[in-house]
Amino acid sequence: MTSFHSDALEALRVGPGAKRPRRLRRTQSLRDLVRETTLEPSDFVYPLFVVAGEDTRRPIESMPGIHQLSVDRLEGEARELATLGVKAVLLFGIPGAKDPHGLESFADDGVVQQAIRALKDAAPDLVVVTDVCLCEYTDHGHCGLVDDAGEVLNDETLDVLRRIAVSHGEAGADIVAPSGMMDGMVGAIRGALDEEGLQRVAILSYAVKYASAFYGPFREAAEGAPAFGDRRSQQIDPGNAREALREAALDVEEGADGLLVKPALGYLDVVRSVRERFPELPLAAYNVSGEYAMVKAAAANGWLDERAVVFEALTGIRRAGADLVVTYHAKDAAAWLQSGR
Ligand SMILES: [Zn+2]
Repeated sequence: MTSFHSDALEALRVGPGAKRPRRLRRTQSLRDLVRETTLEPSDFVYPLFVVAGEDTRRPIESMPGIHQLSVDRLEGEARELATLGVKAVLLFGIPGAKDPHGLESFADDGVVQQAIRALKDAAPDLVVVTDVCLCEYTDHGHCGLVDDAGEVLNDETLDVLRRIAVSHGEAGADIVAPSGMMDGMVGAIRGALDEEGLQRVAILSYAVKYASAFYGPFREAAEGAPAFGDRRSQQIDPGNAREALREAALDVEEGADGLLVKPALGYLDVVRSVRERFPELPLAAYNVSGEYAMVKAAAANGWLDERAVVFEALTGIRRAGADLVVTYHAKDAAAWLQSGR
């Protein structure tokens, strides 16, 4: 046995001058030195769900650690994010009342408009990105206006999106992020912002949003599940990758300042191909609620090391080509990075 092993080893032994990639993996310091993809708190965008009312911090059951917050609770949140080095938030509003046309979505005193002002008062340096869509505001829960047959009306919806984006810009948003996958949404919003003197407001387009079952927990958080039907007439079929590039190209043409792919983990090939096709634009990927919930549930059962898995997932998203990651893990990950892993 011994001689068999030593013979076999002799035959396998690499000779002098051999390439030995393990040399650079020998110590933690060497590994740190040659790491190609790193994580910083400033890579993260933290989603916030803002509700009407006061003194509210309501836990979202399917997303442990995430809450719906009233506007008066945002100041504390902004301070915490600044301490952690997280530089951007993505705002979703849950209005007090919903109607077929989503009227509160562009109201000057709407919940998101109030939230933008509160955040900018509390932390002027915080980058405020706002979701621009109708699904949280309509009683039917669709991302646009619908006709009597329940079809989502594209061009009529663009007019509402223009009003929403302008109201967010006027309230002080830095970036508006249209998420409804309406055809022509970026061009319509750019035109409206420019007409109103809001040239400074950037557009981060949800250019590539798949019809994904991983959005499940978000629907509880944003209270925006469709009352009938689904969103497959707007969002991309999970089997399609070339279509993603077509969507992204149209949004670039229409004036998008940045692109977003959603979800992230099941679509890293798409993140990579959008990165390669549009190297000049910042690219974000949305590490969605279902991806978050899976990690939290497994960690709560002791089945996964949460911190290690979160770092690995976020690193994977960045390695695929995303500059920014919208993630519910943002605060935890930033705190762990600060504490030196
Ligand atoms: Zn929507």
